This record gives sequence, structure tokens and C-alpha cells, in this order.
Amino acid sequence: MYDVIIIGSGVAGLTAAIYARSRSLKTAVFEKEENVGGIIRGVSFVTHYPGVSYNERGDEFVSKIEDQTRDAGAEIIHEEVTKVDLNADPKVVYTNNGKYEAKKIVIANGTAPRKLDCHSEDNDTLISYDAFADSSKAFGKEVFIVGGSDGAVKESIFLASLANKVHITHQGEALTAIEAFQNEVNSKNNIEVHLNTRIDSISGESGNVTVKLRDVKTDEITEVSGDHYVFAYIGGVPNTVLYEGLDLTDKGYIVIDKNMKTNIDGVYAAGDIVDNDVRQISTAASEGTIAAIRIADELKNA
Ligand SMILES: Cc1cc2nc3c(=O)[nH]c(=O)nc-3n(C[C@H](O)[C@H](O)[C@H](O)COP(=O)(O)OP(=O)(O)OC[C@H]3O[C@@H](n4cnc5c(N)ncnc54)[C@H](O)[C@@H]3O)c2cc1C
Repeated sequence: MYDVIIIGSGVAGLTAAIYARSRSLKTAVFEKEENVGGIIRGVSFVTHYPGVSYNERGDEFVSKIEDQTRDAGAEIIHEEVTKVDLNADPKVVYTNNGKYEAKKIVIANGTAPRKLDCHSEDNDTLISYDAFADSSKAFGKEVFIVGGSDGAVKESIFLASLANKVHITHQGEALTAIEAFQNEVNSKNNIEVHLNTRIDSISGESGNVTVKLRDVKTDEITEVSGDHYVFAYIGGVPNTVLYEGLDLTDKGYIVIDKNMKTNIDGVYAAGDIVDNDVRQISTAASEGTIAAIRIADELKNA
């Protein structure tokens, strides 16, 4: 039996594992993907985290945390968690490959990218939610980015170095990204920003794609056809469907207290999956830290 099982190997989960091991807890991290690291692995350049190098890629950044986690002695198990019994004592975690028990659980399995309304089987090959992994799709094309947040605008700047032209489409009156990213956008002559604009449909096939843009104020439609590709960054949906009996917000995020405890005894949560307004790698790391240290305290005092 493990002292602690951590679900998800993003920054929150890996940090929780490092701190759990620093307190000598027998620790396993479950990750459903082949690669460790979660969202930040797929980010072009990591920004604003203390100590991060200039132009450090997400995969480079997270590889260091992965090495640190393994060196600390945590097991990283590449299996998908499919069911959990959070109220049992010990807690039971079922995966696609087996059944595991732990005294405590940290839920850190993040969010899934929110899909575009117009995403369907028909246009599945024309849309990506990961610019870094699918950067080859942007080469020499006119690409459309959906979203105005830091992440959307940062990935647009990255794609502008590969694509002929980048169109940022955003439903709002102004981009919400930080000023530094907006200034960089303004300095690029191959990025055009379309405010008050949504993408209504994406159709065709690779090499001849039609994107239908709607002006949300006037309802005017503009259709553009050509060698296009669409990247969407319109937020995330918390991966909480697995968890019965947890207090969730109306948007599905896990309610936690200041120690990252959920309403179920022995169950903690950290990172993008919890109900916090700020979602960055620094907050994910901080929340993973708090969860692991509090778990160690609880086990020591049991
Ligand atoms: C485009 C973009 C750029 C960003 N850039 C920055 C930046 O530069 N600096 C910054 O501070 N923040 C940035 N962020 C935010 C930051 O990436 C996130 O806040 C942070 O990575 C969240 O980490 P997490 O550990 O909570 O979740 P995640 O990274 O989502 O990790 C969750 C993990 O759980 C796994 N998982 C899910 N379900 C299961 C299951 N059932 N079983 C097993 N494993 C499962 C997933 O595969 C994933 O690996 C960016 C976000 C985006 C979208």
C-alpha cells in the first residue's frame, strides 16, 4: 500500500510527489499519457516561473521536474485512473491495468482543453489544441488562433515564426493577455487580431479549408478559404467526472480549504482542477507542496 497516490503528473502532481518523498512517504503518481508533465509540456515557452530560463520550452522545463521526481524516489506509473473509492479506508484507485491502495490521495489531474462549439468529426483533422505538438501543421500556412488569453496569445507569437500569417480571433472587445504579449503581437507584421469575432464553422480538407468568421456585434459573416489550420485556446474543463461525493463548484472545480483538503477525509486536490481564480505553474507547484506537507503531518499525527 502507498502512503499517498497522486493522480496526474502535471506540475501540481509532480511537486506533491517531490514533497511527499521529502517526508519519506511511499508515493506513486499515475499518469494516463505516455509523457509526464501535463499542459506545460506542450507549451512553446514557459514564462514567469521563478528561475526559468529565457525561451525555455515546456518539455525542457518539465523534464527537469520529472527527473527530480524520479530521483526523489516517487514511482511514476503510466496508467489511466478509471475509478476511485475515496471514502474507503484505505482509499482505492482503479486503473486500466490494476487496483492500488493508499492512505491518502492527491487529485491533480487538471483540465481538458475546452473544445470549439463547431468542432466535429468532420473537421477533427483541421483543429488542434496544442500548438507545440502540432506545430508542423502551421508551416507555410495561414493559421487561425481562437482565444485572447495569455496562453492563446503566447502560442500565436510562437506560431508566427512558422506560419505565413497568424489570425488571432477573439470574441471580446480586447485581448485579455498581458501587455507584454500584446506588444509582441503588435511588433509582428504577420499577426492580425480580429476582435469581436468568433469562428462559426471550419470545413473542407487539408490544403483547402474554409473558415467562417462572424462579427459578434453585427452578425456579419466573412468566409476565408485556403491552406488554413485552426488552433484553439478557449480554456479548460476540469477532469472531475471520476469523483463521486466531492464538493464541486457549478463549473466542476474541486472545492478545497487552505490546506488543499477536499470535503472527503484524506483526499486533497491541487492545481488547475481546484477552485482557484489563478491557474499558473507557480500556483500548481504551491498547491502540490501544501497538499503533500499536510498529508505528511496528518500521517505523522495519526
Ligand atoms: C497555452 C498555455 C500556456 C501556458 N503557459 C504558462 C506559463 O508560461 N507559465 C505559467 O505559470 N503557466 C502557464 N500556463 C498554465 C499552466 O500550464 C497550468 O496552470 C499548469 O500546467 C497546470 O498544472 P496541473 O498539474 O494542475 O495540471 P495539468 O498540467 O493539466 O496535469 C494534469 C495531468 O493529469 C493527467 N490526467 C488526467 N486525467 C487522468 C487520469 N484519469 N488518470 C491519470 N492521469 C490523468 C493529464 O494527462 C495531465 O498530465 C499555460 C497554460 C496554457 C494553456
